[in-house]
Amino acid sequence: MRDTGIGIAPEHIAKLFQPFVQVDSALNRQYEGTGLGLALVKRIVELHGGQVGLTSEVGVGSCFTIDLPYVLAPSATPVLPPPNVLNTEQRQPDPSSIPLILLVEDNEDNIVTVAGYLEVQGYRLLLARNGQEAIDWLQTQCPDMILMDIQMPGMDGLEAIRRIRHDLSLGQVPIIALTALAMEGDRDRCLAAGANDYLSKPVKLKQLAATISRFLEPPQTG
Ligand code: MN
Repeated sequence: MRDTGIGIAPEHIAKLFQPFVQVDSALNRQYEGTGLGLALVKRIVELHGGQVGLTSEVGVGSCFTIDLPYVLAPSATPVLPPPNVLNTEQRQPDPSSIPLILLVEDNEDNIVTVAGYLEVQGYRLLLARNGQEAIDWLQTQCPDMILMDIQMPGMDGLEAIRRIRHDLSLGQVPIIALTALAMEGDRDRCLAAGANDYLSKPVKLKQLAATISRFLEPPQTG
């Protein structure tokens, strides 16, 4: 997962994965969170025998990677299929045919939940933490769908949706707004701004899956 965020200094990378540690612990910091998300990710990945990697540059962005060991399940059937099957059906899918989803969200817990789910489903993923970062991604990337949080620091989701619909030549990329349950009437504001649909937060994965499937074919796995 790659972002174009504030980046992380080398001396902060080691403590990034410790629980309840925020690199910026000032009371007026711009980015909220409990400091548990990355610690949980690391713990879960390591329990599966994998590891979490991170490269980052301050002011440029960060790239998180997760390596998980792939173990073939024991099987009664022969390991190798007949050669003709091997040649036609074992081909890797073309990466550009896998749907690309831009997730725009500032809340760390929601990022872990939604991004984790989408990656398990096999989607390719871009992450932005406010509207401006989303616009920046769209200068070079053409996602097949955008999941847009509404309340974010800097440029909020409504403004970002309006700019995407008016300024950018993205055609009719589906935009799903993510809104807090308490915000009655926000559904109409999201749709008026140009969103195709909305999901109430906290996002339930079943509803997320159902909504995505109305706009996108799921990735071909295997
Ligand atoms: Mn938010």
